[in-house]
Amino acid sequence: MAQQFRADVAVAGSGAGASAVAGELAAAGMDVLVVEAGPKWFDRLGTHVRNVYSSEADLSRVGDIIYGEMLGYPSGSSEPVGNLAELKVAHGAGGMFALWMGNCPYPDAGELPDWMGPADWKPYFDRALGLMHVDQNGGGSGRMFEALLDKTKRAVGPRPAGREVRPMPFAARRVDGTLKITASDDLFFRGGDQPPNLRIITDCIVQEVIAGAHRATGLRGVRRTAPGDQIEILADTIVVAGGTVGSPKILAASKLDAGPALGRYIHEHVCIGSRVTLNADIRELIRDDEPVYSIWVPFSDGRPWQNQLCRFTLSSDGTRLAPGIREVDTSDIFTFVAMDVTPDNRFIFDAERLDPFGLPDAAAAFGFTRGDRERIGAAMTEHFLIASEVGDMQAGWTPSIYPAGGSTHFMGSCRMGETDDGESVVDRYGKLWRYDNIFVADNSVLGTSNAGNPTFTTVAQSLRTADRILGRNRPAAD
Ligand SMILES: Cc1cc2nc3c(=O)[nH]c(=O)nc-3n(C[C@H](O)[C@H](O)[C@H](O)COP(=O)(O)OP(=O)(O)OC[C@H]3O[C@@H](n4cnc5c(N)ncnc54)[C@H](O)[C@@H]3O)c2cc1C
Repeated sequence: MAQQFRADVAVAGSGAGASAVAGELAAAGMDVLVVEAGPKWFDRLGTHVRNVYSSEADLSRVGDIIYGEMLGYPSGSSEPVGNLAELKVAHGAGGMFALWMGNCPYPDAGELPDWMGPADWKPYFDRALGLMHVDQNGGGSGRMFEALLDKTKRAVGPRPAGREVRPMPFAARRVDGTLKITASDDLFFRGGDQPPNLRIITDCIVQEVIAGAHRATGLRGVRRTAPGDQIEILADTIVVAGGTVGSPKILAASKLDAGPALGRYIHEHVCIGSRVTLNADIRELIRDDEPVYSIWVPFSDGRPWQNQLCRFTLSSDGTRLAPGIREVDTSDIFTFVAMDVTPDNRFIFDAERLDPFGLPDAAAAFGFTRGDRERIGAAMTEHFLIASEVGDMQAGWTPSIYPAGGSTHFMGSCRMGETDDGESVVDRYGKLWRYDNIFVADNSVLGTSNAGNPTFTTVAQSLRTADRILGRNRPAAD
């Protein structure tokens, strides 16, 4: 006999999309129950790992925790999903949102669906900016930061109005002098304590949405700490927010009529990454307590990629420093290249073979188009121009293209669309086309080619989902 719960809304997952929806619904007075497959991790549920290990000078220490302990293959599997060698996720309270870097680029019109343009998004982006505490100054300040910004501008040349090189909007604030990166705790609890109408169960895997022909009545899950111990949550509305791999698995396991697009249109940002030792003239401006920073070269018309200079949480394995060079003397450079979004790039679910979560096992078909390869080539040129403008090439320099999935920005699989034409799984509100009360809220709904880190867009979209559940209408901007 399963243990039973009752809520207005049941949410599967506790990451970026889940916490945005659940926090908004709870703030409006709804009774919300969240079920997270992984452990609680930290005492303040959903807080960021860097709020616990807070050194800004020793980021590789946090990198070791992130890559060694928190990220893993989906569903705790010992093997990657098909040829997606580096597609990893974080199963724990807050999901990957508990590890992210806080970069929040504002999408260009060319990165949004052509059937739902910037005016439709603006009210939700505005709300996300506030809830996520987005600092427009990229965290950085001071002479070193200014020098790096100037050199980056020189390297890439002029950009269209509104898409100039600038500090990256950064979802973090200083609390008592310590950097507090926005994570699920902020969106769930809005700076206060956990309210009684927002319950969160950890270590419990959602295995099924219980549904009839057009309506769901609840979620079914199993506790990881006591296998065989089932729970059932009866709810008026269901939000599936298990991420790009987790959500389609839950829908596939539930045998819902999600249409032919389920699992298809998966995409990411092809990630070109390198670390440079900064030129001596920049190094001499670095302070001992130099704060972390992030510089942004936005996606723009004709340049469908984004560059970013920052100090990243690489693990110490990936950190090769020249003699006498400290971590603060280096900069990481990432170029995220937009991919073509095609139905041929897809997960293939096998209902007969179950993964360690008891969900359908996934394989994948994933590759580059000719257009992707041309774009990657052009973007690499710009990556090199930046690296050689700010960095010491004589010290050696090794750029790499990350293995598939390694961007940590995997999207698609429950694609959002304008009509139920077989090319999408959910409507503009994240609602499954063929059901009245089942929603998806996470990176999986982002099905338009883009190059900007996706979490800001996912949070904005999840706030739209919350408004739809609440019956609230936020008019499009003029
Ligand atoms: C090191 C790192 C740096 C990053 N930096 C940035 C950045 O600077 N900017 C940016 O935009 N993005 C960044 N990202 C990506 C960002 O973390 C993701 O875009 C974001 O967290 C995705 O949100 P989501 O809701 O789709 O999934 P997640 O936040 O991963 O949440 C999904 C949750 O669902 C749970 N779940 C899955 N299946 C089930 C199930 N069956 N039952 C119950 N629960 C389940 C998972 O355990 C997880 O907690 C970074 C990621 C990493 C790892």
